[in-house]
Amino acid sequence: MTQGFPLTVPVREPSAPSSPDDQVARVKAQVVRKLSYSLGKSPDVAQAHDWLTAAILAARDHVIDVWHRSTRESYATGRKRVYYLSLEFLIGRSLSDTLNNLGLTGPMAQALEELGVDLAMLETMEPDAALGNGGLGRLAACYMEAMASVGVAALGYGIRYDHGLFKQRIDGGKQVETPEDWLSFRNPWEFERRESAYKIGFGGTLTPASEPGQVLWTPGETIFAVAYDTPVVGWKGRDASTLRLWRARAMHPLSLDAFNQGDLVGAVAERNRAEAISKVLYPNDSTPVGQELRLRQEYFFTSASLQDLVRRHLRQFGALDNLADKVAIQLNDTHPSLAVAELMRLLVDEHGFEWERAWEITTATISYTNHTLLPEALETWPVALMERLLPRHMQLIFRINARFLDGVRRENPETDLAALSLIDEHHGRRVRMAHLAFVGSHKVNGVSALHSNLMKETVFAPLNSVFPDRITNVTNGITPRRWLLNANPGLTGLLQETCGERVTDDIGLIRQFGALAGDAAVHDRLAAIRRENKLKLAKIIRQDCGVTVDPAALFDVQIKRIHEYKRQLLNILETIALYDAIRSEPYREWAPRVKIFAGKAASSYATAKSIINLINDVAAVVNNDITTRDRLKVVFLPNYNVSLAEAIIPAADLSEQISTAGMEASGTGNMKFALNGAVTIGTLDGANIEIGERVGEDNIMIFGMTADQVEAARRNPRPSADIIRDSAQLEGVLDAVAGGVYSPGEPDRYAGLVEGLTANDWFMVLNDFESYRLTQRRVDTLWADQGRWWRMSVNNTAHCAWFSADRAIREYGARIWSLSTTAPGQG
Ligand SMILES: *Cc1c(COP(=O)(O)O)cnc(C)c1O
Repeated sequence: MTQGFPLTVPVREPSAPSSPDDQVARVKAQVVRKLSYSLGKSPDVAQAHDWLTAAILAARDHVIDVWHRSTRESYATGRKRVYYLSLEFLIGRSLSDTLNNLGLTGPMAQALEELGVDLAMLETMEPDAALGNGGLGRLAACYMEAMASVGVAALGYGIRYDHGLFKQRIDGGKQVETPEDWLSFRNPWEFERRESAYKIGFGGTLTPASEPGQVLWTPGETIFAVAYDTPVVGWKGRDASTLRLWRARAMHPLSLDAFNQGDLVGAVAERNRAEAISKVLYPNDSTPVGQELRLRQEYFFTSASLQDLVRRHLRQFGALDNLADKVAIQLNDTHPSLAVAELMRLLVDEHGFEWERAWEITTATISYTNHTLLPEALETWPVALMERLLPRHMQLIFRINARFLDGVRRENPETDLAALSLIDEHHGRRVRMAHLAFVGSHKVNGVSALHSNLMKETVFAPLNSVFPDRITNVTNGITPRRWLLNANPGLTGLLQETCGERVTDDIGLIRQFGALAGDAAVHDRLAAIRRENKLKLAKIIRQDCGVTVDPAALFDVQIKRIHEYKRQLLNILETIALYDAIRSEPYREWAPRVKIFAGKAASSYATAKSIINLINDVAAVVNNDITTRDRLKVVFLPNYNVSLAEAIIPAADLSEQISTAGMEASGTGNMKFALNGAVTIGTLDGANIEIGERVGEDNIMIFGMTADQVEAARRNPRPSADIIRDSAQLEGVLDAVAGGVYSPGEPDRYAGLVEGLTANDWFMVLNDFESYRLTQRRVDTLWADQGRWWRMSVNNTAHCAWFSADRAIREYGARIWSLSTTAPGQG
């Protein structure tokens, strides 16, 4: 095992070992007690939803025992805590994972059965906590669970949005968004902490304080941040971390004067303005919404979190000098980069530190994870907006910048300071949040080897030359508990049989599965497990899409946010080429396929929405064509979320990871599929490269341009007419789409989409088409040889343990958070 540092808390036996029957009886009594005394219902009148809440409350009690022990232990040992700041946590459901981590799935299922209730049915009723858009938010959720499993004392900080990511419906082939309402039945997992409320200021005036260098900030507007805590339990109940989400509350929820004068709207105006901050998640993960509310959200949760951790540290240690020894603050992307200025403000203005020492503490405490190099996604805020909303922070940022640039100038007078500056002077003076985070951190990491290298070569090249040791890489990871043990019990059982029961504790042991890659009996077992998972998915497809699919067909899956760089368009164009090919040679043996898509488009992203429309239009034509009936089906599953991903991934044969090379920072969907034994068809992008290195080139289907080739082609583009002339298939597909073959009611529906591709193929859809198409035909050939296919599948599962979030967390611990010297009493 690559264990970067010793586990802090040894795994221990439950305090009172008991027989399984005892345990069932106890859990049963606990559930009934919750039902009676927390919900006020007796078993004979309880509705399914009451049982769900009672089961959650009973499970939560078990988590709380672990949680209190973890917290006590952290205080007693004074071990370093990790504070993970993220604007998004894409959690999904919690009941099933919590029970599994506690070893209570069996007892709970049995207890409920005796009460006449089906646990599996209850589990599907739990709403997804969708406080995130995609990969970045899901990563934060995986890391919270992994920190609790590896034994890192951790608190996650974010926003408790009233409304998470919108719900998606497909209506006439088009995406329709409706508000999400996860709190409508309350949230039984959380604890409101009214006593943990902090004042968050905006605007106002600055006056010099008595001490030199200190400034007194009198905000013009103040709101409260109220904490809501959710414990997150790790594997085998080893440890629990805390997810602390902030809710915005007005200081004066009601103006009685206004109310008494009959101004009912004015009476709650302050309240509405304040509470808007935690009202909705921004429906976008890659472009900054140039809105004041977004900046208010970012400052709101960053300030509340820093005030909270400073207060906790002072209570435990009495002073802030040793903050960096006891606290690691990880910024998940640039959204919380104001933490750099806020920590300086707290240290200098509120705790009397002189500048140099405050800066030392700040940079030693904070580190920053970058998630994207897309220029349009690198957040910047207008200086004028910052000065109005956060005047003291703007002042501090100017001072940080002046000192930084002075230092660089002294070292090397030739340096291009404009490229380094925290202020972009070219676009109407804006604060570069990524530069603020970079300069204010001791380590900055990318999320895959390729991405970290590109950081050094592109957007962060100037800063990297000043701080050559600052950028490091920690390739993303996923929690194997949710994405393998829980999502795929069949495969887990086979892995336990073949690699030993302990694979669930040490996922590294699945390497041994590779020795069975050629074993026909193992292939048969895998085929049966996969078929079972596919039957379950087929049922969902029938319910949600009204399409019947054959589990014997190759399930070819692309599920992720809909985005031009992720290239769902390339996939659907190739699907049309396949459809054409089958129709032109109907008597050939075609490998039957089901093309499965799912994903949401940001509500303002017209091209992405048009791609969803095209997929559904193609599905409508293909699924009703008698000639291709047994060979090809296309489905778009609505409302992609964590729960749907858990159902789809274990049923996938082929994993589509086909982003334009150089544009997907890492991807984590790719890891989930490979671990579950799907074969990847993908580009040399993000973590696909590292997956390929581990599973071996015979077990992954790589196609298309490299990141370097993409860059060269952008500088010197090949005319699209030439590319199209070289591929009769591509030409036929584009003509059909542009000509309205798939949208007969509105023939020019996709004229613009095709025109965009041919005018400027920025995402290399045309450039990569032939390579992708030919690779798909190689997939057909491999699929026909099932022995070969299962060998590839085994090799994928066996060699993907490295993508465990536990490994990623250990790397963070050793290289970024300096957790190697933890308290005594380690396993
Ligand atoms: C894993 C995951 C993602 C990230 O998927 P990518 O393919 O890496 O973009 C997004 N959404 C959900 C619900 C996920 O589970």
